[in-house]
Amino acid sequence: MSWRPFVLTATALSLALAVPGVAAADDPPQPQVESRAGTLAPAEVSGLAEPAAAGDPVAAAKTHLADPRYHLDPADLVPLTTVVNGQDETVRFAQRYRNLPVFGAQYLVRFRKDGTGREVTGAGGRFLTELDVDPTPTVTPALAARLARSRLVRDERIRDTIKATPGELLVVPRGKGVLAWHVTLTGADAAKKRPVLLDAYVDAHSGQPLFAVDRLRFAGPATGSGKTAHGKDVPLNAFQRADNAYELRDRARPMWNGTTGEILTYDAAGADVQDFLNPGIPAGTELAESPTPAFGAEHTESGAVDGHWGAGKVYEYYKALGRDGLDGKGGTMYSVVNVTYYGGPFENAFWDGTKMVYGGGGADLHSFAAGLDVVGHEMTHGVITHSADLVYLGQSGAMNEGLADYFGNAIQTGALGIPTSDPDASLLGEDLCKNLPPAQCAIRDLDDDRNAAKDYLGVTTALDSGGVHLNSTIFSGALWDAREKLGTGFDKVVYKALTEYMTPLDDFGDGRRAVESAARAAGLSTRDRIAVAQAFDRHGIRPGWERLIRIDSRVVLDGLTDAIDPPALAGDRYAVTNNTPDTNGSTVIQTGRLSGGRATTLSDDGRWDWTPATDGRRAVWVSLDPAAGVFQIRSRPLDASAPSTVVHESTGYVYAAAVSGDTVAWSGEDPATGEVEMWLKRGNAAPVILTEGKGVAGYMPSISGGRLVYIRVTFASGSSHSTPVVRDLATGTEVVVPEVPPTGVLPSLSIYPAVTAKHVVWLYDANRDGRMGVMRVALDGTGQTPVVADGPQAPHPTWLDASESRVTVGVQPEGTTLENVNLPKIYQVPVTGGALERYSCNRGEQSLFAAGTGGRVLWLDGTAGDTDLVTRDRPAHRC
Ligand SMILES: [Zn+2]
Repeated sequence: MSWRPFVLTATALSLALAVPGVAAADDPPQPQVESRAGTLAPAEVSGLAEPAAAGDPVAAAKTHLADPRYHLDPADLVPLTTVVNGQDETVRFAQRYRNLPVFGAQYLVRFRKDGTGREVTGAGGRFLTELDVDPTPTVTPALAARLARSRLVRDERIRDTIKATPGELLVVPRGKGVLAWHVTLTGADAAKKRPVLLDAYVDAHSGQPLFAVDRLRFAGPATGSGKTAHGKDVPLNAFQRADNAYELRDRARPMWNGTTGEILTYDAAGADVQDFLNPGIPAGTELAESPTPAFGAEHTESGAVDGHWGAGKVYEYYKALGRDGLDGKGGTMYSVVNVTYYGGPFENAFWDGTKMVYGGGGADLHSFAAGLDVVGHEMTHGVITHSADLVYLGQSGAMNEGLADYFGNAIQTGALGIPTSDPDASLLGEDLCKNLPPAQCAIRDLDDDRNAAKDYLGVTTALDSGGVHLNSTIFSGALWDAREKLGTGFDKVVYKALTEYMTPLDDFGDGRRAVESAARAAGLSTRDRIAVAQAFDRHGIRPGWERLIRIDSRVVLDGLTDAIDPPALAGDRYAVTNNTPDTNGSTVIQTGRLSGGRATTLSDDGRWDWTPATDGRRAVWVSLDPAAGVFQIRSRPLDASAPSTVVHESTGYVYAAAVSGDTVAWSGEDPATGEVEMWLKRGNAAPVILTEGKGVAGYMPSISGGRLVYIRVTFASGSSHSTPVVRDLATGTEVVVPEVPPTGVLPSLSIYPAVTAKHVVWLYDANRDGRMGVMRVALDGTGQTPVVADGPQAPHPTWLDASESRVTVGVQPEGTTLENVNLPKIYQVPVTGGALERYSCNRGEQSLFAAGTGGRVLWLDGTAGDTDLVTRDRPAHRC
């Protein structure tokens, strides 16, 4: 076959784009191949004009992909959909590895049909050719479920509500592939007043929980205050039953085939949102109904009128693009309105993978069904689920959100006759508020001009699913700009990119390529294609954009794969949880020097290793024996002069450890009682529990200068008391620091103690409002002095560590809007007291850190498009 691979490297691509990289529209197609790192299967092959077999498109696509240039076995492909769009016909496959699904791996073949002939025009996506996975799990599904709950739900208050249900096996495409258990986590987030439904993945060989994806696509957060609904008269397609009542059942659409293809709107009548997390509609939930065809005010208030009318508008919009319903197969579209959150208002809405669920609104906000852009946004998540299925994490998740915003706004402006040039056209959710003007009510603005290199907010997956809302307008803004230039006809290009080019794990660069390829295939003029390229350029979506992000810290380790544990630091030596290229999925303990040199892998047991601690000479960490379900604490000299040894092993989960010389302390479950205890082991002696007795627990060990400090918690008559305990390791004497006097009705809370040569410092919350100060005592427990006072102005800290001279605190800002000022940042204050100062002006998340000597801090930083281990030696003071 005449095939000249033309590998477009990042450099060639950026040069081409600078030109800009758009060939004249009437050029004959030139075969081009773009490779993808880590796999032999090309990311995209375009410009083909090769004959293809007639008949079944799936068979024709498999025949084409059998060609050796694709390096894949068509037997590993399962057909998902075939999209017919004019003359274009696209077959989408999912990859299987030894009959197991491969998370996010999809490949597409594109045909053009001309009369009876069919030719291949291109192919591409993500197929992992280098997988090498043992398909037999070591870890039981029950242990996988327990580990997912313990490690992937960081907020204890949420964790307490979580039920973990193990599911099927699959392959996660990391390294040579990781066999993983799917675990469903269901619970509630009381702070955000919303249900929690996560798809978690746990390494089925090592037991390491890998990541969790939010299954619920929320519209919120929004803020506002207000008065009544929009008062627009809208037609509703209802259904008159045998008993003459009318219900919101729309059978007037082309997808209705006599059995299925309806648009149904249910009224939950105030039932709890938690009842609607399973696929489908729970038994007993009724369609919204009315004695007459005029659905009255109560149905406006509940959101039923808006939800039903909106779903019809969404159907009509996608029908015009050639799509029959959300699933593209004329499947019934379900909405539920009027749910509550534990009896109170649920001021939100979400798509759960099978249906729309809307709250009934509240004092300040309408039902979220009242914003057609929100209805369009949420239902577009359904379209995405049934097409590119962009994984709801990081950049692919931000594109998922961005496309939902783009189409949500396109649906609303089209249905209401708002020109794209109207300043409110680019706003999302501007109609939800009962009182606020649109610009203040809106959740997002696609015209916010955000640029990848200048504005990308790098966060770990613990925050906003890795920035799915934080960064969505970078991508959707480029699309909206192009729409403002090219008109509403650009929608079909974006839709084509979504349904015929994108795959689940695409990043911004893949997304740009998908849109540009779709524009070419759709026959856009050279001028219009330049406009599309310029829109992406303006939003900074171009190869290497991550390298243009500025930071004020020094990178110690680039691209950490695990952002759950804080690093450990003693003097110049650090230890951190990370993957190495030769490890399959599960993390190892890496160590190195801040002053330079390469990191080396210290753990030597070939297992999942995590939670390191170091005293500068050796490190201890936790490791799981996956077959036995036993947690080990292991220890090894940092210079690797001897193999690791087992300090202790138990079936109880270990939360944190500390080490100094031959002494190791840890906080871990006592399998005999289920309580979390503080354990201490000296030399070869058996470990002892320092928090003996029912209702006494121990957390958060810190060792320095021959002293151990930990938090002792005692549970009594429904409340808990917490305070630091300082133990002299040489004499075994303990000083229980006097509990901080409470200023409210509950006892004060003390967490995250750090001991230095002169002081013990920790976070305290005197009135249990979540705001905390920093307290200091002398080593004998006397002289309690606030370093930062608790009170109405105190911060919401998340973490603390200290040197002799300075206290470092991680702070979560209290704002809920998704912008940089509300990301967790590091602050520092002299141990003698003063104002908290910003430590680094980096733009991304700064959550987990270790303090070194003086003002030195080593932390996990999310700024540069991934999570890096970085350091500075003093605060930035002002940002
Ligand atoms: Zn969304």
